Amino acid sequence: MPLLVMKFGGTSVADLDRIRNAAQKVKAEVARGYDVIVIVSAMSGKTNQLVGWVNETSPLYDAREYDAVVSSGENVTAGLMALTLQEMDVPARSWQGWQVPIQTTSQHGAARFVDIPRANLDAKFAEGFKVAVIAGFQGVSAEGRITTLGRGGSDTTAVAFAAAFDAERCDIYTDVDGIYTTDPRITSKARKLDKISFEEMLELASLGAKVLQTRSVELAMRYKVRLRVLSSFDDTNDQSGTLVCDEDEIMESKVVSGVAYSREEAKLTLVTVEDRPGIAAAIFGPLSEAGVNVDMIVQNISEQNYKGREKPVTDMTFSCPVEQVARARKALETARDAGSISYDALEIDEDAAKVSVVGIGMRSHAGVAARMFRALAEEGVNIKVIATSEIKISVLIDRKYMELAVQALHDAFELDKAG
Ligand code: ADP
Ligand code: ASP
Ligand code: MG
Repeated sequence: MPLLVMKFGGTSVADLDRIRNAAQKVKAEVARGYDVIVIVSAMSGKTNQLVGWVNETSPLYDAREYDAVVSSGENVTAGLMALTLQEMDVPARSWQGWQVPIQTTSQHGAARFVDIPRANLDAKFAEGFKVAVIAGFQGVSAEGRITTLGRGGSDTTAVAFAAAFDAERCDIYTDVDGIYTTDPRITSKARKLDKISFEEMLELASLGAKVLQTRSVELAMRYKVRLRVLSSFDDTNDQSGTLVCDEDEIMESKVVSGVAYSREEAKLTLVTVEDRPGIAAAIFGPLSEAGVNVDMIVQNISEQNYKGREKPVTDMTFSCPVEQVARARKALETARDAGSISYDALEIDEDAAKVSVVGIGMRSHAGVAARMFRALAEEGVNIKVIATSEIKISVLIDRKYMELAVQALHDAFELDKAG
């Protein structure tokens, strides 16, 4: 039997009516002759509520218990989806991660797949079941504890199942009808793309475009999964969505293909740290152990060097998600108390956002950075930190200018126009 993976995000299973609507789409694929693996998210808002409860109970929580709580939203929708399909005379069974079992590493809150054995699901399909409904976002560690894959992780569950079961396609149903040049919530000029390359989608996702989880794109690229994003809401219009595919399947190519943003960023500066070999490792080692996702890093000559200091000093600036500032501060203070680093002050700016432009065309075109900085300057947006790679340029700016910056860059690179 040919097999499809169909993933429904939070808004697509937000209530019983939405679940029925999603189940209809699954039933239609079964009628076309497919076995289907359905991956479900928690009902929209549910995971945020669970995360909120954990934070309220224990601000520096034990990540094992975070996963125990936060994974539960998907269990509910998996069971409800299986029941809804049964009511429609489609033979379906639900599975929580540990029942498959979806084996993952034990990095709680950011676990990675180790293996997805096929035997249990294959046996059920052989019995005549047409649909296996899998609770997304979760797995089980070698220690037998429930794990989660990081926010948005159901996308990655979907792609991993598509790879493990050689699915013909992996369809990600969401509340937009495809991948756009930027988040259509930020500008109505955003344009839907028919296709986007894995490389560009990978950058957009890792820079904040939450339409797909970064890891899902990585896996799709590695295992050559045909990955499509489409709407579960729109039954009338064009249902082709956006295909994420290899670069050479795409004819149209602009220098910049998309603009991404990440709203909740913080900028931290360690003022006056010793400028010596090993200092970066002494700072970023403890941050990494504390689970802080450091993003941009800038090391500056400190002006203190010109004030008669005996030893050279430097200022170290980095960015991380706002929600991790408390962890970062604690890790740095602990390292200072232990004597492995010293600094005069830790300056924290919690009102930052990151805006990035992405495009494989940048590899062969100069001048993208200049055009980007000019567009921001014309809007009076000040840049705090800049980072570049082969196919992206990111800037950290004041959060209050984020929407304005995204719109200005979308205009500057004429992303509303095709070709
Ligand atoms: P789901 O709950 O289905 O997983 P998400 O909220 O995680 O849905 O992702 C879909 C959302 O991603 C859209 O509603 C949109 O606001 C946002 N988004 C951000 N960037 C883009 C983009 N470039 N194209 C489409 N959607 C985007
Ligand atoms: N429910 C989880 C989240 O909100 C996983 C997902 O929806 O992909 O992050
Ligand atoms: Mg999502």
